[in-house]
Amino acid sequence: MFLEQAEALRTRDHPRFVVMLDRIHREAPNLTPAQQWHLRYLDAWEAMFEGDYTASETQLREIIDRSGNDVLAAKASGLLLNNLALNRRYEDAFTLANRLAAGLDQVKDPQARFLLQSDLSQMLSLAGQIDLAIQYAHMAEQAVPPGENLCRPLSREVAALYNGKRLTSTSQELQRAIEKCDATDQPAFSNSMQLVLVNLYIEEGKPSMALALLDRLSASIRTSAYYPHILSAKVQRAQALAALGRDKDARAAALVAVAMAKPGSIDQALAEAYKVLYRTEKRLGNAAAALSFYEHYVVQDRGYLDDISARTLAYEVARQHMLAQKLETERLSKQNKILRLQQALDTKAVETSRLYNVLLLLVLASIVFWLFRLKRSQLRFMRLSRLDGLTGILNHQHFICRTERALQLLNKKVGHACLIVLDLDHFKLVNDTHGHATGDTVLKRAVAACQQQLRPVDLFGRLGGEEFGILLYECSREQGMDIANRIRAAILESPVSKDGFEITISASVGLASTATSGYGVQRLCREADAALYRAKRAGRNCVMGDLEVANALVQA
Ligand code: GH3
Ligand code: MG
Ligand code: MG
Repeated sequence: MFLEQAEALRTRDHPRFVVMLDRIHREAPNLTPAQQWHLRYLDAWEAMFEGDYTASETQLREIIDRSGNDVLAAKASGLLLNNLALNRRYEDAFTLANRLAAGLDQVKDPQARFLLQSDLSQMLSLAGQIDLAIQYAHMAEQAVPPGENLCRPLSREVAALYNGKRLTSTSQELQRAIEKCDATDQPAFSNSMQLVLVNLYIEEGKPSMALALLDRLSASIRTSAYYPHILSAKVQRAQALAALGRDKDARAAALVAVAMAKPGSIDQALAEAYKVLYRTEKRLGNAAAALSFYEHYVVQDRGYLDDISARTLAYEVARQHMLAQKLETERLSKQNKILRLQQALDTKAVETSRLYNVLLLLVLASIVFWLFRLKRSQLRFMRLSRLDGLTGILNHQHFICRTERALQLLNKKVGHACLIVLDLDHFKLVNDTHGHATGDTVLKRAVAACQQQLRPVDLFGRLGGEEFGILLYECSREQGMDIANRIRAAILESPVSKDGFEITISASVGLASTATSGYGVQRLCREADAALYRAKRAGRNCVMGDLEVANALVQA
């Protein structure tokens, strides 16, 4: 596949890569969406290689956010990290690095993980976090996915060790990294490592070895055309030559390096180049040139040192941001939890209060029901206590009581009433002849016969045995006598059948009127009783009024 071939070529043979990329672009309409994203990644890489960092960043961010391809996104992230770091946008770079580190656990694709670990190692090394950088490199070394090899993570480890000044020209790690990168044919990485070795030779005072190695490397560095390597190689050559006392050669090499520098760029290599220039000019006796180069050296060196502290600071800032964000997230999630608990508590409280309400209602309802039943039975008892058990009419006491009240009322409005006292004739005989039960039936029949002659306003009560009282309300004596006679006749006409016999009963009736006896119940009763007595005396089955009694008394 062209895309992979092109990608493999990009550092090994950059000019060919450019040609291939151009060719792939011409075929772009035939590419699948996944291939289009891959192509965009190569474009971003090339843009970065050419120094168009802005275009490269835009494309990389698009790949990270939208490609949906973990491996490609990891590659793009690594490239973006480099992009940001190269432009000294350290805070952005470390923020991205922190984000990638935090999300590393979610990255399941082995290749994507491997690439991210390697890139994180590089970034942490840049931030001066040597131990962490080594840790990430080790992680990558321990899980090399198919299609990748140890060259990349070993290079990261070596870079970290070198940054931390933990490396010598004989360090195993360095030898191993160079071997692996050579074995897997990755000249860019190999050159990087070998340039580190050159630096170590120079630092250790072995300039000849440094020069020899530079000579061996020069062809490969030229082919890859990677600017930082070309610059480094030139500066290192100048340094080695200077160390060998070949001041003029050293100066020439250093001047080439300085001439290569992009305007305004700050670089450790440049600082070293100016240092060589200043020292050689001094040794050659060119004081003015020496001073001028010294000034350049100071600018570069200070710039570089400032850059290191800027990186460290940016790393700290990004880390603090991340911590603050984490704390904020934790605080919010805690707050959410509290809110949820509060809500649950509120719901429970509502449910409980609902339950209480229902319980309260139930208790209230049962109390009301209980009170209602109590009242009902009370009323029933009261009613029963006022009624006669056999006949269902008012009992003696209640009849007198009600009659008293009715008379009081009539007294006030000057109305009249008649009190009737009624006694069944020879009732004992009924009991004796037909039995007590039949006697009861006769009593009830007589009561029913009476009731048919009465109005609702009249009062009817059992005074005892077979004796009854009736208050005819708002009733004159004449009307009263008339009703009393009707009652007497009704009783007589209501026989009870028993064993084929008809038991007929008569009643004697005495009547007293308020017109003559006044409104006192006792007197009325007395008068009516007296009249009844007269009726019995007169032969029973008849009605006697108080007047008749009076007349009789007068006659007597
Ligand atoms: P008199 O014509 O003079 O009134 O004669 P009497 O037999 O009706 O009068 P007495 O007072 O001698 O008898 C009343 C009887 O009524 C006596 C008693 O046994 C009977 N008696 C009273 N209460 C009841 C009752 O509730 N049921 C029955 N079956 N008999 C009753
Ligand atoms: Mg009697
Ligand atoms: Mg009687």
